[in-house]
Amino acid sequence: MGGTISKVEGDQYIVTMIGYLNTISVKDTIKKEDGFLELAKTLPKLDIYHELLNATPLNKPSIYQVPQIKWKRIDKVKAFPNGLLLMRATICRIDPVFGQGMSIAVLEALALQKILQEQKGSLQQTITVFHKKVAKIIAPIWKMVITEDFRYPDITGKKPIELKIQQWYAKQIYLLSIEKRDVYDHFIKVMNLVEPISFLMKPRILGSVLRRIFVK
Ligand SMILES: Cc1cc2nc3c(=O)[nH]c(=O)nc-3n(C[C@H](O)[C@H](O)[C@H](O)COP(=O)(O)OP(=O)(O)OC[C@H]3O[C@@H](n4cnc5c(N)ncnc54)[C@H](O)[C@@H]3O)c2cc1C
Repeated sequence: MGGTISKVEGDQYIVTMIGYLNTISVKDTIKKEDGFLELAKTLPKLDIYHELLNATPLNKPSIYQVPQIKWKRIDKVKAFPNGLLLMRATICRIDPVFGQGMSIAVLEALALQKILQEQKGSLQQTITVFHKKVAKIIAPIWKMVITEDFRYPDITGKKPIELKIQQWYAKQIYLLSIEKRDVYDHFIKVMNLVEPISFLMKPRILGSVLRRIFVK
């Protein structure tokens, strides 16, 4: 279970509770008078709960269930229908917990703009180039997301062989982010897709991780 409070316009906030594998009861959360507040009370830390105690709810909570995440490898389909260009959620539905969907949409739109401006071949070639480019955009983000999703043992799917190492390194980054502003800044830029994952492998960050393991 986890939760976030995000500031939006008009001095308002969106409060989100996140649960994997049906840990959140739809019935209890929506139907009970204080269902949402009670849910916040079950989080490992009570800071969100304490904020909510003094907050005014502007509407009733709503539940959004994501049965699975999916990446359709259309870039590998050889006989793709002519003239059909797919993008965003039609190709990849990513875990919404990380709030990256809209950023991926923007990266894909920018890639499409560039490809159209530079296009030399036929329309079909242009579409193929775009689908391959989309796969390149999604690959590192998908890797990042499944690294976290596979922490839940009941989540099924194809696991990369380097998964355990990625999970170990990501955990060190989370723990360091609490202590070190610099690491947090790097982490948040990668999570928000401003920088690539390699940004978290910079010698300075790697050094901080190693120091945390061996010096502490
Ligand atoms: C709970 C949740 C929270 C999220 N939070 C974030 C976040 O904080 N940050 C972030 O970046 N991303 C977030 N996302 C992801 C983001 O919403 C999606 O990545 C993004 O909306 C995908 O855009 P899209 O245009 O591909 O699809 P959509 O936004 O789903 O748009 C598809 C549209 O097509 C319409 N449509 C479907 N079928 C037809 C049809 N046959 N004919 C005509 N119209 C049709 C649908 O009604 C819909 O309006 C979240 C997703 C979820 C589910």
